Amino acid sequence: MKLTLVYPTFGMEKNPVQPFGILYVAAALQKADFEVSIIDTSLFSGFDEFEQALSREKPDVLGFTIPTWLLNNSYKAIKIARRVMPRIPIIVGGPHPTIQAEEMLESFGADVACIGEGEITTVELCEALKNKTDLQRVKGIVYRDGDRFIRTPPREKVKDLDTLAWPARDLLNISAYLQQPPNPPELYPLLGILASRGCPFSCTFCADTLHELFGKSIRYRSPKDVVDEMEFITHKYKLRGIRIVDDEFTANNKWVMKFCDEMIRRKVKVSWSCNSRVDTVSEELIQKMKEAGCSYIIFGVESGSQQILDSLRKEIKVEEIKRAFAICNKYGLPTRCNLMVGSPGETMDTFNETKRLLSDIEPDFIIVGITSPIPGTELYDQAKAKGITIAKSDSSIDRFQSLLILENFTHQETVGLVKNLFHHYFKIVASYLYNPVQLFKKRHFFKAIFRYFYNMFAQNPRLCLSTVLHLVNYQKVRFGNALTVANVVEEQRKFIC
Ligand code: SF4
Repeated sequence: MKLTLVYPTFGMEKNPVQPFGILYVAAALQKADFEVSIIDTSLFSGFDEFEQALSREKPDVLGFTIPTWLLNNSYKAIKIARRVMPRIPIIVGGPHPTIQAEEMLESFGADVACIGEGEITTVELCEALKNKTDLQRVKGIVYRDGDRFIRTPPREKVKDLDTLAWPARDLLNISAYLQQPPNPPELYPLLGILASRGCPFSCTFCADTLHELFGKSIRYRSPKDVVDEMEFITHKYKLRGIRIVDDEFTANNKWVMKFCDEMIRRKVKVSWSCNSRVDTVSEELIQKMKEAGCSYIIFGVESGSQQILDSLRKEIKVEEIKRAFAICNKYGLPTRCNLMVGSPGETMDTFNETKRLLSDIEPDFIIVGITSPIPGTELYDQAKAKGITIAKSDSSIDRFQSLLILENFTHQETVGLVKNLFHHYFKIVASYLYNPVQLFKKRHFFKAIFRYFYNMFAQNPRLCLSTVLHLVNYQKVRFGNALTVANVVEEQRKFIC
């Protein structure tokens, strides 16, 4: 039996990131001796190529992983699959089917939805389909039985993540991923890795979906297993950078310390970056991470207003934000501050508090997105209950627009806030050039930028040049009349923490 997995981006991501959900499921299926392939649509220019790929692969079962922002693409792709292969069983999994399984089977015409983690469930499901046994015995699925939907008992989370096979990267067109310029100051070529699953925090715009998928606590792989994989992919793909894509890498300081000790002991020569929270880092931790090769840390700050932070249940204090950035600045660890504007309750005062915070903490990089209610989150339920979302249906949710109706800002004004914050950030960066003390204090920032371009130029001069041109053009677009939030929101969503 051959299973083909699809990640239906169809070129929507400018810099595609590895689809870890299907890479882990593919690896589990391979381990169970199933034939697996992946249709990597990230480089497709349209749906015709998908139809051709289906005819080429000739799968017996088709699986889709579906985040909410890919609902439209997924819908079209499943319709095509149904037309080309009317009898093929179609499985859907990932964030959206986990939240709204029955709705997806009903409206998309899929046959089975996988709830939560897919590795064990998909293997058992494929065995049941192959042997034509009762699907009722497969935990963690919803399937059709005539006019009814049957929901089986929940699947337990994978207790020991080390038992999972590493992501089946070889099934992807991996060179396309390797050739993507990373975000400054990450080093090229770069790939991502997952060291943990889940997040124990409760932010209203994010947590519920994560909790449904991975549970309410965080599970880490062993430091040895993570470093083994980092070492392996560094050698195999000649990497200079690795992005640890976990939602909250530093939630368990003891684990991170052990991981860093392992990196230092084995002298793994690769620079790495991670997502973090300001309340889960200490001076000792940052010092150790730096020593172990961490070259970039991304904090989900969201707002400089305590009122907005509290309403998003971020559970951090503005003082903690200042402390975390001060520590990173002290140890010369480049930082990125992820911000969101247009949250419920945003006013000009709260926005100005965010601007003042930026001046205080002097992050090296920022990303600004517009707060959007994603189905399955508390923010979405609140917005629906108050009638303050303009989303007509879940498929109208994408990463390119604000869907909240705000009391104090129109949609265009919210876009203006994004632009305003970027202006403010660039003014801060420009001010370093006129102030020798600041220039010295922020020398790690200039060093990181220089290293980023120098490293890329040494390995791929053409890519380096096109990246420079792209960045110049990006700024023009961002600050010209044709400003859209597409780019910034896209970035924000990819690395949201
Ligand atoms: S935003 Fe970050 S800290 Fe909050 S729930 Fe999501 S992953 Fe966790």
